[in-house]
Amino acid sequence: MELTDLVGAAVRGGLSWGSDTLARLRQRAGMDGPRPCDALILDVDDTLVDTSAAMRAAARAAALEVWPESGAAAREAFAEHFLSDPRGIFDRYTAGELRFHEMRKARIEAAAQDLGLLWEPRRYRRYCSGFDPAFAAAQRLFPDAMPAVQAAERWGITVVLLTNSSTAATRMKLQVLGVSDRFPHVVTTDTLGIGKPDPAVFLHACELAGAAPEDCIAVGDSYANDVAAARDAGLRALWLDRTGTGVGGEPPAIRSLAELPAALTRAV
Ligand SMILES: [Mg+2]
Repeated sequence: MELTDLVGAAVRGGLSWGSDTLARLRQRAGMDGPRPCDALILDVDDTLVDTSAAMRAAARAAALEVWPESGAAAREAFAEHFLSDPRGIFDRYTAGELRFHEMRKARIEAAAQDLGLLWEPRRYRRYCSGFDPAFAAAQRLFPDAMPAVQAAERWGITVVLLTNSSTAATRMKLQVLGVSDRFPHVVTTDTLGIGKPDPAVFLHACELAGAAPEDCIAVGDSYANDVAAARDAGLRALWLDRTGTGVGGEPPAIRSLAELPAALTRAV
């Protein structure tokens, strides 16, 4: 929340303007008190960016290119299979076993096999001609993403993006969304050849921020990759549970990044 927003909120709330009002509003917005950490290690996909929706839209478009005779239900089934990745093929990419394009081809092949769709590797270029432009066009930041980043920056917290996606895909997302200049520190699976949950990527992100792991807080939507793995690496962590799924006995989770400033304060 900017200062002007705080002033606006004060006026709309019928409050007289003064330092007490500002202090009260800052407290309400969770922006008061000591800086809760030196760096925020932020996940990208399904944390800042609605990647699941973009992948679903892109996979539908790709299926239309490759299987034009298929019906809408078949294309939807393909998109869901591609996204949910039941064989865990994406994990083999983040473990360094597959390159990005090998991973993507394997996921297409697995979905086609399981759904009885005809797939030939020579169709891959056609698949990409459907998927890639649709994926770029479908990029959306969650409305709570940049206000949370701005709140952290006002506190003097360094923000580092840590994503299991590829460097090329991440660069595209940030450029399309017009925020690439906002994030000088980005760590992808390509940076070290491995991704989360390996502790090495968290330690590398902390190093980029110039902060000790215990002075960094990781935030992301995957409990295993963004919370448990971050803690194993010596960081503190907050789980962004947008769907309210929950994990037994596990506080603190936030449902929206709008809750982040207050949650960071509690995490001091
Ligand atoms: Mg994520």
